[in-house]
Amino acid sequence: GVLIEFDDVTKQYDGGTAALSGLTLRVRTGEALAVLGPSGSGKSTLLNLIAGLDKPTSGTVTVDGVRVDRLGEAASAQYRRRRIGMVFQFFNLLDDLTVLDNVLLPAQLSGVPRQKALQRADELLTYLGVARHAKAFPGRLSGGERQRVAVARALMNRPPLLLADEPTGALDTASGQEVRQLLTELNRDGQTLLLVTHDLALAEACATRTISLVDGHLAATGVPA
Ligand code: ADP
Ligand code: ADP
Repeated sequence: GVLIEFDDVTKQYDGGTAALSGLTLRVRTGEALAVLGPSGSGKSTLLNLIAGLDKPTSGTVTVDGVRVDRLGEAASAQYRRRRIGMVFQFFNLLDDLTVLDNVLLPAQLSGVPRQKALQRADELLTYLGVARHAKAFPGRLSGGERQRVAVARALMNRPPLLLADEPTGALDTASGQEVRQLLTELNRDGQTLLLVTHDLALAEACATRTISLVDGHLAATGVPA
C-alpha cells in the first residue's frame, strides 16, 4: 500500500518564497526513496512535514493512514514515537548514556516493559553488528558504529518508516560504505526508507527510486543506474 502521501503540499515560511510548492508524492511500503537536491531546495522541510514537526501552509500529508498535518502536539509526539524512526548526519546519540541505554530510550518513552525492551535492544544491536559495544559510551565508537547504534535506536519501536537525513554525511569512506550497505540490507528486509542525501553512492546503492527537489518543486524522478 501507500505509506506516504503528499497531496498538493505547499509550505511557505513567513516572509519567504515557498520552501515546497504544490508537491504531490506517493511512497509505497517497501520503497527506499532517495531525495536529492541542492541546499535550500526544500529537503528538510519535506522531512519535517513527514515527521509532523511542522505543518504545511496548504495541502495534506498522510503517513501510514495518519493525517499528519492535522495532529496536535501530543498526538504528533505519539505519532513520531510509534511510526517514525529518524537518523541524522551527526547521530544525535546521548553521550552520557551507554549504547544500550540510548537504544532503550524510545521503548522507555513508550512504556514498553523493561524485559521486552531489553530483548528487542539486544536483537537489534546484534542484527546491526554492535552488540559488543552495548556497555560502552558512544564517544568510544567509530562514526560508522555510532550510526549503526542510531539506526538501532530508530528501529526500537518498529516504525513503519525510517527517515534518514544525510546519514553518511559525517562519515569517512569506509564507514560511509558500511552505512550504505546497512541501509540497503534493511530495505531488502522490508523496511521502508526515505533518505535525504547528497551522497550519490548512497542513492545508487540503496534507493529503489530517486527524486530531486529544485526550489520546492519535483525536478526529476528515476531509478539510479
Ligand atoms: P534544504 O533542506 O534542501 O536545504 P530547506 O527545506 O531547509 O532546504 O529550505 C527550503 C527553503 O526554505 C530555503 O529557502 C530556506 O531558506 C527556507 N527556510 C527553511 N526553514 C525556514 C524557516 N524556519 N524560516 C524561514 N525560511 C526557512
Ligand atoms: P508484536 O510485533 O507481536 O506486536 P511487540 O513486541 O511489537 O509484538 O508488541 C507487543 C506489546 O509490546 C504491545 O502490546 C505493547 O505492550 C508493547 N509494545 C511494543 N512496542 C510498543 C510501542 N512502540 N509502544 C508501546 N508499546 C509497545
